[in-house]
Amino acid sequence: MRVAVYPGTFDPITLGHLDVIQRGSSIFDRLVVAVSRNPGKAPLFSLSERIEMIRESVTDLDNVDVDSFDGMVVDYVLSQQTNVILRGIRTVADFEYEFQMALTNRTLQTEIETVFVMASQQYSFLNSRLIKEIAGLGGDISTFVSERVSKRLTSKLREREH
Ligand code: ADP
Repeated sequence: MRVAVYPGTFDPITLGHLDVIQRGSSIFDRLVVAVSRNPGKAPLFSLSERIEMIRESVTDLDNVDVDSFDGMVVDYVLSQQTNVILRGIRTVADFEYEFQMALTNRTLQTEIETVFVMASQQYSFLNSRLIKEIAGLGGDISTFVSERVSKRLTSKLREREH
């Protein structure tokens, strides 16, 4: 059975992430979306909120599981009885960062392979940080995230104001 782990912060999950997940689920027998606690990035949503939003988005994909991890991604990947990391590429800027990460991970654990997929062109500019900024300014984010995520983002930002 071919298993891959798609690690990320997912703060929150966007339609771009979802596109990568759908592509990954059609390539692999099982795909584990692994949410990094990532306190260094000071996420807006808690770990359990990020996991819940992903779970709500992948209910129709039978071979996708959602989990979380702390520490090094390579250790988590090996604990899932696989050696494959799935990542998404948007732009040349992503490529440089991802290239560095992939080679670092392979240096840490030689058996690790990173597989890249490109999201649809329509999502290629999406990133969670910009979406949070737009939502914070009262802009329309309905074409960037699911309706559920959009509602959660609006109420989270409102909560923050008080
Ligand atoms: P991280 O903090 O690990 O970069 P992210 O949640 O920001 O976590 O991203 C996880 C992965 O998803 C990365 O490989 C990133 O390049 C990819 N990704 C995010 N948004 C998109 C998108 N719109 N199209 C393709 N890949 C994407």
